[in-house]
Amino acid sequence: MANGDIDHPIIISNNNVPGEIAALSQSLNNMAAQLNGRIKQISQQRNELEAVFGSMTDGLLAINHDQTIIRINRAAAALFQIDSTTAQGVAFAGFIRSRVLQDFLVKAIDTDDSLSKNLTLMENGHEISLYCHTHPLFDGENRRIGILVVLNDLTRINQLENIRQDFVANVSHELKTPITAIRGYVETLLDGAMENREEAIKFLEIIHRQGIRLDAIVDDLLTLAHIEDKTEKNTFELRREKICPILETAVQTCLVGATLKKIEIKMACDPEMTGTVNRPMLEQAIINLLTNAVSYSPEKSIIKVTAERRKDETGRDIIKINVQDQGPGISHEHQQRIFERFYRCDKARSREHGGTGLGLSIVKHIADNHNGKVELTSRIGQGSTFTFSLPAENVKEMEQIKSQ
Ligand code: ADP
Repeated sequence: MANGDIDHPIIISNNNVPGEIAALSQSLNNMAAQLNGRIKQISQQRNELEAVFGSMTDGLLAINHDQTIIRINRAAAALFQIDSTTAQGVAFAGFIRSRVLQDFLVKAIDTDDSLSKNLTLMENGHEISLYCHTHPLFDGENRRIGILVVLNDLTRINQLENIRQDFVANVSHELKTPITAIRGYVETLLDGAMENREEAIKFLEIIHRQGIRLDAIVDDLLTLAHIEDKTEKNTFELRREKICPILETAVQTCLVGATLKKIEIKMACDPEMTGTVNRPMLEQAIINLLTNAVSYSPEKSIIKVTAERRKDETGRDIIKINVQDQGPGISHEHQQRIFERFYRCDKARSREHGGTGLGLSIVKHIADNHNGKVELTSRIGQGSTFTFSLPAENVKEMEQIKSQ
């Protein structure tokens, strides 16, 4: 027992053993049983603590008074790109390079209070926004031994907040333009232009056009909101469908605009080819690509819509749908940003065509929801080819998309 073997009780097998020895043995057995229970309880508590510590998505650090790491969890180790096991016992200045964070931790070790601060650091070339909170750490005898640090990574939340603010600003700006025009022309009409029939008709036509523009922006915003809605009730169903009829419907929809510009739309697609798709969404994506091709192409040009089944670099079967035009092409600098919301290469030209600047971002979102992607190959003066690719058959994976 003195050597730590408390699992085996003392067995008194002989009735001749004196009473004191028997009582002492019983006491030792009781003590060993209690000790065993305590050890098991402590082990269980340690395992629970380990599970809480390890599974927390916030970074956790326990730091000694001498600035060495007592414990570090996986999330904090990942934040500083170090190994959590080798970091223990190491001075934090060895891997926390940020001067501001170092100073904050030193200050926290020197004070009896809890401290909180928002910090921005550069870690391996990336900017990280952190909310740091420290709390004094005590040992079993209630002596201060250091601090516990909670690091809440706000980088993604801040990025999303910036995107949201930019989006609201952009939407307001886009809506404001037609609204200002409508107000202006209505005021001019009320101020007397109504008396001049010819002028009045001209102004009313402008108001009508701006109304249509407002309608198009709101429609596109609603489509985007619908595609981005990942809640349960918005089921994005994917079914095995023939691709050809979907492309045919999209072409039909764009035929009126194309005919006005004497543009020919040629289609090549194996009629038996199938894919796992959401039919209305895929149709919408191809219509958006075709509408752009028609809008930006010169008169009497040709647009080709093709679909083919191929293997991608990982050997997966994919379906590639190409929309190729003979338009002005898109320069390299614009190609990087063309799928962003409200991004246009030429604002005036886009407005002239009744564009909202949202068409391609809708296509990108639809491709994402199909587990696919949309790419652009283009050179100035040599037309553009937009390629929408999606996995040919991954029904199960696809059905999971909404729950991700
Ligand atoms: P828009 O409503 O302005 O067409 P999109 O998101 O559909 O918005 O397209 C973004 C921009 O990309 C357009 O404003 C245009 O400058 C450019 N673009 C899109 N498709 C083509 C194309 N086929 N040829 C040339 N430029 C294009």
